[in-house]
Amino acid sequence: ASGYNLMRDPRHNKGTAFTEKERDAHYLRGLLPPAIFTQELQEKRLMHNLRQFEVPLQRYMAMMDLQERNERLFYKLLIDNVEELLPVVYTPTVGEACQKYGSIFRRPQGLYISLKEKGKILEVLKNWPERNIQVIVVTDGERILGLGDLGCQGMGIPVGKLSLYTALGGIRPSACLPITIDVGTNNEKLLNDEFYIGLKQRRATGQEYAELLEEFMTAVKQNYGEKVLVQFEDFANHNAFDLLEKYTRSHLVFNDDIQGTASVVLAGLIAALKLVGGTLADHKFLFLGAGEAGTGIAELIALEISKQTKAPVEETRKKIWLVDSKGLIVSSRKESLQHFKKPWAHDHEPVKNLLDAVKAIKPTVLIGSSGAGKTFTKEVVEAMASFNEKPLILALSNPTSQSECTAEEAYTWSQGRAIFASGSPFDPVEYNGTLMVPGQANNAYIFPGFGLGLIMSGAIRVHDDLLLAASEALAVQVEDEHFEKGLIYPPFTNIRKISANIAAKVADKAYQLGLASRLPRPKDLVKHAESCMYSPLYRTYR
Ligand code: NAP
Ligand code: MN
Repeated sequence: ASGYNLMRDPRHNKGTAFTEKERDAHYLRGLLPPAIFTQELQEKRLMHNLRQFEVPLQRYMAMMDLQERNERLFYKLLIDNVEELLPVVYTPTVGEACQKYGSIFRRPQGLYISLKEKGKILEVLKNWPERNIQVIVVTDGERILGLGDLGCQGMGIPVGKLSLYTALGGIRPSACLPITIDVGTNNEKLLNDEFYIGLKQRRATGQEYAELLEEFMTAVKQNYGEKVLVQFEDFANHNAFDLLEKYTRSHLVFNDDIQGTASVVLAGLIAALKLVGGTLADHKFLFLGAGEAGTGIAELIALEISKQTKAPVEETRKKIWLVDSKGLIVSSRKESLQHFKKPWAHDHEPVKNLLDAVKAIKPTVLIGSSGAGKTFTKEVVEAMASFNEKPLILALSNPTSQSECTAEEAYTWSQGRAIFASGSPFDPVEYNGTLMVPGQANNAYIFPGFGLGLIMSGAIRVHDDLLLAASEALAVQVEDEHFEKGLIYPPFTNIRKISANIAAKVADKAYQLGLASRLPRPKDLVKHAESCMYSPLYRTYR
């Protein structure tokens, strides 16, 4: 290949870091300025440039340009500066990028499968240049973050999630495939936008929708085999639960909004027991919000308690209560409830609002997962603090503007007694001379390591026990020095090590359950996980 082509291939390009020998051997002489940079110096220069941008979207675009120019350098930056760059390549900035995707769109970074491709999806998959795919993240764009229906412009989400699979979980970039399924959009603004990149029609539903997804899932298995992981991302809840249920028995599927969220929140709860005392079974849980996040978390908590106490899950669910937009979910509402809410309809008289539900149920743990901001009011937090020595309060709704309450509010209204974590990050708060550090229940703690565990063991199905294993693996990595600050999650800086530990525990469980196909089982799974992980360091070309 000519030097010119080498420089234009992002997977191999090293820019000014090509050595003298490489410049001679690969016809690069004269195509580059004479100075030779190390990868570290390139990184330093790029970080400096990136920090010049004040608008987050400009940082996002600069990172995307880098990814398309020099992939290893992109991942080196992301791995070495994970706390700074995670909010750039993922939430919240990726949300704005999706909203404006039509106008910032440069080069397609994944596969688009629309209704036009019906009957031809297998051929479309074959158009993708890589054959050896290990993880697909797929969205239909209907519920992008907390932003609603962004149709085809949801592509930013699979692209961003997969770059985290590589940076945090060490999956090779060439093994990652972002896909957007375009069945139309109900977003009027996009339908009227001349720069909209998707199909200009209202969303297909019912049989037409189901058939396209069925063709897609069949083609995926046919083209990539049994062991490719398909992660459903940001589907609306009226499809998400059904798709997961439908394909969990025939494919290796995972829904991060339901299962990933559940696993990361359960990990925080298990860790928090060190601060609040007791076992999970000693606690009582109340949720505001009974959608993908709320019912997903609730089910995993019930399962974990059931494992620990040997009580049937039908019994352990009774420790968990949920409130939706119509009030407390109780048995008298059962007939009219969506199916994923029915298991939570316990016997109780109707309760209309959260404050009354808190007073009636007296939970030890309060979890916000409704997407509605400022719902944990002073009265709600004070009520929690009146019957709990250390109320556990999780405000999971994103973005920051939708948080149920701020960290400062949680600490102030509970006289510094609350243990608080949130979906969006909050700065540490000083309360009565003590620095309180709120934890972030970020899904990025779990899914990259979880996926690595599935892949390195050759798992063919996801099982709830694998999610429980991931939660436990994350929880044990919170150390005394973190607890002392009030944290129930470990710091993000060590995320690759955290991911390797999660991967090892998930793989171990997959082998135990007979779900792993990669044999023989490696002796030291943590070491094996680390050795599987992609390194962004440049390689020498001879
Ligand atoms: P979803 O499936 O649409 O569910 C939302 C639920 O909240 C529904 O049960 C809805 O009630 C209820 N709700 C909405 N507004 C309400 C209000 N004002 N009062 C009471 N209930 C209300 O959404 P989701 O996927 O579960 O996501 C919910 C939120 O969790 C989002 O903000 C998301 O960003 C956040 N989240 C955070 C994390 C994390 O921290 N790691 C992970 C995932 C999601 P009805 O059913 O009656 O309509
Ligand atoms: Mn999501």
